[in-house]
Amino acid sequence: MRDLPDFENLAGLRKSGKAEKGNAMEITPLEPWIKTKLGTSANGAELRTNIDRHQLLKLRETVDYVRTHAPFYRTLFDGIRGSDLNSFEDIASLPFTTPEDIQENDLRFLCVSRDEISRVVTLNTSGTTALAKRIHFTEDDLELTTDLFHHGMQALVRPGGKVLILMPADRHGTVGDLMVKALKRMDVLGIPYGIVMDSGKAIAEIVDKEVDCLIGIPVQVLGLVRHRDSTAIPKGMIKSVLLSADYVPAAIVKEIENAWECPVFNHYGMTEMGLGAAVDCKALRGYHIREADLFFEIVDPDSGRPVPEGATGEVVFSTLTRKGMPLVRYRTGDLSRFLREPCPCGTILKRLEWVKGRLCGGVRVGGGNLLTVADLDEALFPLPGLLNFQVEISGDGTKDILRITLYSEDSSSGNLCRHARIALEGISSVRAAVDTGLLTIAPIQTSEENWISTGSIKRKIIDSREG
Ligand SMILES: [Zn+2]
Repeated sequence: MRDLPDFENLAGLRKSGKAEKGNAMEITPLEPWIKTKLGTSANGAELRTNIDRHQLLKLRETVDYVRTHAPFYRTLFDGIRGSDLNSFEDIASLPFTTPEDIQENDLRFLCVSRDEISRVVTLNTSGTTALAKRIHFTEDDLELTTDLFHHGMQALVRPGGKVLILMPADRHGTVGDLMVKALKRMDVLGIPYGIVMDSGKAIAEIVDKEVDCLIGIPVQVLGLVRHRDSTAIPKGMIKSVLLSADYVPAAIVKEIENAWECPVFNHYGMTEMGLGAAVDCKALRGYHIREADLFFEIVDPDSGRPVPEGATGEVVFSTLTRKGMPLVRYRTGDLSRFLREPCPCGTILKRLEWVKGRLCGGVRVGGGNLLTVADLDEALFPLPGLLNFQVEISGDGTKDILRITLYSEDSSSGNLCRHARIALEGISSVRAAVDTGLLTIAPIQTSEENWISTGSIKRKIIDSREG
């Protein structure tokens, strides 16, 4: 395996002594779980064939199920029969489902009566005129996710461990609620905490409860690492961190790994996927997907056609086992690719590269190149003391102005602003626009205002340009 000599170099693993020389890396816990679900003892290429066969069969069943039960798909799949779908190429010829379809009328997606739905998640999309998106789950649908968490977390924590969950957990069927249930099944104590509003309090809770694993949103966990009280956390106490978001900045992962000397795992899962979808194995080299329950494709965002193997494109998924509101070929707007090289953990499961950002997540600056939140994250988060930032592009149609407000506990530091300007000018799209005179960077502002309020929502560039 080509990757093997490298993986001990991962900062977190090396420093925490988790990867011992000569020991084979633990395979992703998702593989034995999926084997059990499929009722197979096959390994290697034979297992891959079994998974592919399972996915095709479930896709055919799902197409028939939704066409029969959901008004939206009755129209969309009119004349299409599951038995007509004989290959993944046939699947790729099916029409897409878009977020707008759900916004228009989520009830047309329901395959069960409304009293069989035990949880509805309302997603407020960006933009004031956009309608909210509602996703419905039955109790069985939620159980599928609890089961994923139960198995996926085995890469992070051992029986007897304690996990602080910095995510909503106050209601039935929230991520935190399902996670607490999942951890209980592996004799791990899940401590629901919710979104962090006061970093100092969360740190006190970590110390008081002797927490050894954290689950949270990237900027929120960074907020703990960079808080003045963070030194209260004894070295080696936190043994693993799981970051969950649509996009996890590499700069934040690195900062957490360095501060706590522990591996940082990424989790990828939209509400539409059933809250959880894919998680890193111990190799920390891209996520493995719950392939018994979800089928992922990567397509060209413009043509909608499948991209060549290993190429970057838009993530599209289909649910294989959901009952309440199954989705077929749902366009996520997220960008990623399948990694072709085998994972160092040795699994036959596919490996999805960490999501690189969103298709619509950027703005054109100075009439030229695209500037994304990901570009800004990677440039700015390495700056010491930075907790979060807000970006706005304004302009009169001829010239753009980039305004940045930095959130820091110590806003008196002129150093932070100076370094931020250098970092911004290092972003190629910004550099090019500044050089042509079509973009000005306004004097950088700092704020000690409660930055946490922006921590739980999707971060984006505010575009207030005229025209
Ligand atoms: Zn792996």
